[in-house]
Amino acid sequence: DRSVCVPLPVLGRDVLVPLVTGGEAVYAALDYAASAPALQRVWDDVAAYAPYYGSVHRGAGYLSQLSTDLFENSRTTIADFLGCRADDQVVFTRSTTDSLNLLAAVLPQGTRVFVFETEHHASLLPWEQRAGVEVTYLNAPRTHDEAVDTLEKALAEREPCSAGDSVKSGPALVCVTGASNVTGELWPVRELAAAAHAHGARIVLDAAQLAPHHPLDIAELDVDWVAFSGHKLYAPFGAGVLAGRADWLRSADPYLAGGGASRKVSRRTDGGVDVEWHTTAARHEAGSPNVIGAYAIASACQALTEAGFDTLVARERELIARVRAGLAEVPEVKVLSLFGDDAPRVGVLSFVVDGWNSSHFAAALSAEYGIGVRDGLFCAHPLVRTLLGTDPQDPGECGAPEAAPGERSLNAIRVSFGAGTPDEHVDRFVRAVKELVTDGARWNYRTEDGRCVP
Ligand code: PMP
Repeated sequence: DRSVCVPLPVLGRDVLVPLVTGGEAVYAALDYAASAPALQRVWDDVAAYAPYYGSVHRGAGYLSQLSTDLFENSRTTIADFLGCRADDQVVFTRSTTDSLNLLAAVLPQGTRVFVFETEHHASLLPWEQRAGVEVTYLNAPRTHDEAVDTLEKALAEREPCSAGDSVKSGPALVCVTGASNVTGELWPVRELAAAAHAHGARIVLDAAQLAPHHPLDIAELDVDWVAFSGHKLYAPFGAGVLAGRADWLRSADPYLAGGGASRKVSRRTDGGVDVEWHTTAARHEAGSPNVIGAYAIASACQALTEAGFDTLVARERELIARVRAGLAEVPEVKVLSLFGDDAPRVGVLSFVVDGWNSSHFAAALSAEYGIGVRDGLFCAHPLVRTLLGTDPQDPGECGAPEAAPGERSLNAIRVSFGAGTPDEHVDRFVRAVKELVTDGARWNYRTEDGRCVP
C-alpha cells in the first residue's frame, strides 16, 4: 500500500513504484546529483507543447514554424539565464559530457589543457582524446588558495612567446567544475578564471552541479564557456548546453557533419564536394534537433529564475544544515571533503560508514527505507580515491568489499537534494542512517548480489 501501480507498455507489464500513497510521499529520491526530478512547471509546459511538435528549421508547415520558434526562443531564454555576452553562442548538445567533448573537438591545434585530477570524468577525460592537444593534470588542492596557486604555477611554466613576454604562447584552456559532484563543494571559479586570463588561457566551467543550485552568470564569473545538462536542472529529455565564446566554435570543423550544419553543399568539377558550414550554433547541431529537450531546459531556467535563487539557495542551506547536523551525531559516519567541513557547498554530500560496504548501505537505504541515494566512485575515481586515501589499484565501483571497522572504505555513499526536497525526506534519511548503524545487523547485506536477507 506504499506504492503506485504504473502501466509501462514498453516493459510489457505494470510495475509497482514506491512513490506516493494517498498524497504521502513515500519514496525519497535523494539522488538529484545524478538526475533531478523535473519540476511540475516543466512537465506542464512540455505536455502543453508535446502534441504539436514538428521538425525544426526544416518545414514550411505551421507546426514546423512553431517548433523552430520555440527552439530558437529556448536558446535566447537560456542565454539570458546564463548572462551570456553579445559574442557568445548557445549550442544545444545531449549533455554536459557531450558539451565538453564538443569543446575538446573544436580546440585549436596545439592547445594546452589544464585540469585538476578532482574533476568528474566528463571534464577530466575528453581532452586527451583529442589529437594535437596536450593535457596537464593538476594535483588535488586542499584549499581554494592552493587551487589558484597550483593553476597559476602550472600556467606560468608554459613556454613564453619570447623572452620577457608575460603572456605565454599558444592557446590554452583550463577546465574546472563549479560544484563537485562528490562533495558538493564550490570551487573558486572567479579566481581561477582571473588566473587563467592573466596567463593568456581560456576557461570552461563544468556547471553540471552548479547550475541547478546556484545563480550562474557567465559574464560576471568571466568564464569563456559553461557546460551543463538538462536532467540535473529539473528538466529531463536528453539535452544539454555548451554556451560561450563563438570564435573557436565558429572556426572549427563541425562536431557532426550533416544536414542543419551545412549552409551550401555543391559538387566540384573534380568530382568532390564543397561544403559551406554555418557559422552560428547550427554548425555543431547537425541532424534534427531535440526541440522538446531544449524547450524543457528553457522552461526549467524560467521556473528557477521566477522562484529566485536567493530563495532556492536559502532553502538548500537549511536542508544541508539538517543533514549535516544529523550525520554529525553518528560517529561511524565520515563526510568527505576536500576543502574542509566549513567549505561552502551545494546539496550534495558523500560519506562512508565505518564497517559498512557503501553499496550495501545504499541498498539498505533503498530496500528498508525507500530512500534512493547513489554509491560508488561517482565517475570521479581519482577524487574519491584521494578523499578515501585508497590505492589506485583498488577494485573500484563494483565488487568493493566492505571495510572492517577502522579500515578504509573503497567507495562511498552520496546523498543529494535540491528544489522541492521536503524536510521529511532528509529527516527520514538521517533516521535511517542512525538506525542502520546501530541496528544494521538485523539485516544481512553481505550476499554477493547485495540482496537483503532478513
Ligand atoms: N560534470 C559533473 C560535475 C557531473 O556531476 C556530471 C554528471 N554526474 C557530469 C559532468 C556529466 O553529466 P551528464 O551525465 O549529463 O553528461
